[in-house]
Amino acid sequence: MIAVYPGSFDPITLGHLDIIERGCRLFERVIVAVLKNPQKTPLFTVQKRMEQIQACTQHLPNVEIDSFNGLTVHYARIRQAQVLLRGLRVLSDFEHELQMAHTNNSLSTEIETVFLATSNEYSFLSSSLVKEIAKLGGSVNHLVPKSVVLDLD
Ligand code: ADP
Repeated sequence: MIAVYPGSFDPITLGHLDIIERGCRLFERVIVAVLKNPQKTPLFTVQKRMEQIQACTQHLPNVEIDSFNGLTVHYARIRQAQVLLRGLRVLSDFEHELQMAHTNNSLSTEIETVFLATSNEYSFLSSSLVKEIAKLGGSVNHLVPKSVVLDLD
């Protein structure tokens, strides 16, 4: 089975990487798909985010990095994926993620959303938290892959 892991990844964190690694054990192929969202003002360009993801997933033979715009289910269908992979951190993620899963299912019943629970150590971690710490001059070495640490310097 092919899974699409969609997200902003602005930037990718160790929490995202953990979901990708575990997804790679479950699925034949995991396509990490960076959403081109014109409504958000990102810190990193889509190209840069893709490079960051590429750099930290070299050890995973069944991962592919791509970008997309428009509806996630349309993208998944084009890529012949059967699964949307998402991570769940805390209870507050749940309502939004459930709403999205229901919406996507109403648009395309053949595509299933699969949630992986975050590993305990990353349950507090988000891209926005990383950006906030970096902006204030704190160390993010323990929160993001090495390539991202250099980009945030
Ligand atoms: P989006 O804008 O789509 O929420 P994100 O890049 O913030 O994009 O997150 C993409 C996916 O990764 C979401 O399913 C999110 O819940 C999950 N995720 C983000 N951070 C973590 C983490 N620390 N542990 C597990 N899953 C995470």
